[in-house]
Amino acid sequence: MNKPLPDVIADILSYHGAIVDKEDNSYFDVIVPPDVSDILNIPEYARLTFSNGETSNEAIYASYDSEFFISIRNLFANRGKFTIARCETYIPHKEKISRLLSENIAFGNATFRLEKKEIKDITYLLIYFKYTAVSDEKHEGILPVLINSMNLSVAPFENSINDLAERLKEVDFTPEHPKCGSLKILQSAYAACTGMIQARLKDFKKSLEKRLNRDIKRVYEYYETLKAESRTVIERKFIASEKQDNIELLTRKLDAIEAEQKWKIQDLISKYALSIKVEPVAIFSIETNAPVFWINIKRRLASRLFPVTYNPIMKQIDSLPCESCFNPTEGYYICDDHLHIVCGNCLKTCPNCSKKYCMACHKLCPKCKRNG
Ligand SMILES: [Zn+2]
Ligand SMILES: [Zn+2]
Ligand SMILES: [Zn+2]
Repeated sequence: MNKPLPDVIADILSYHGAIVDKEDNSYFDVIVPPDVSDILNIPEYARLTFSNGETSNEAIYASYDSEFFISIRNLFANRGKFTIARCETYIPHKEKISRLLSENIAFGNATFRLEKKEIKDITYLLIYFKYTAVSDEKHEGILPVLINSMNLSVAPFENSINDLAERLKEVDFTPEHPKCGSLKILQSAYAACTGMIQARLKDFKKSLEKRLNRDIKRVYEYYETLKAESRTVIERKFIASEKQDNIELLTRKLDAIEAEQKWKIQDLISKYALSIKVEPVAIFSIETNAPVFWINIKRRLASRLFPVTYNPIMKQIDSLPCESCFNPTEGYYICDDHLHIVCGNCLKTCPNCSKKYCMACHKLCPKCKRNG
């Protein structure tokens, strides 16, 4: 799922008609068409390298912090920020579909039944997000996600874009293209991607916390020893009835140690604070003609029609979205007020007043206005 940058670059260049001769993950040779050569400002025959140390005269440095990487965006910008393509549809048998529905869809607190089915034009966006996580270390990566613009189901895109490219036909770009620019779709993909990145960085975050706690303990203990020593000296001088001035001087020193201890710990917390930046670097808009199954979801006396889709790109049923985090974990539930589909993580139980609430309806507990 976490594709190395050279693979992503190779995919993007191949998609734009280049021939890529990939030696290993540190460099590869490419022959690019003249228009791509102009856009990227590289020769038609070029060697790309991904490790900074190995930059030689002929090799072009192409990692995240390179000019080449920035220019890759122009491949998409010159086509109106999007590449639009149409994917040929494969429609599975009816029996297979009903089996897929019952296998893939279940709610913890509601039932559903298939109401009707139809074939519809659906646009999927394949968005390549780049993330940079910085604390005392830097972690970078590319995460491609596929979002269904009809029901906002998001999944990490694990297939090779080359395999997909064989099934795609390019379509002329029209700025009015209705679905590619919708803010809600991009926001949902961004939210899902942020959740996926958090999960991917779990081990890194754990090690970060471990190192932070270790360093805080060290600093804390060091200053506690200093403070204990100062206190002993003060007591001794007090017993020896030394001059008040001397004792006051030592007390001020103790205060200074205390302040420095607090400041040092704060410093460690900011040193290990993790900031994550996520930005889209490329977007493919893929039009499909896909089977849509309208299910009627029943929760108590209320019901809601929802489109479940068969994804012709991934050749599987799209998983249901969580309409709060878009990266569902721990099952699906239906909210009482608006019948949102939310995951186990987004149907919260308030720790203060025990009220259950839907995160798609409320960001804070509606009863006590506190954060779950
Ligand atoms: Zn959720
Ligand atoms: Zn509450
Ligand atoms: Zn809700």
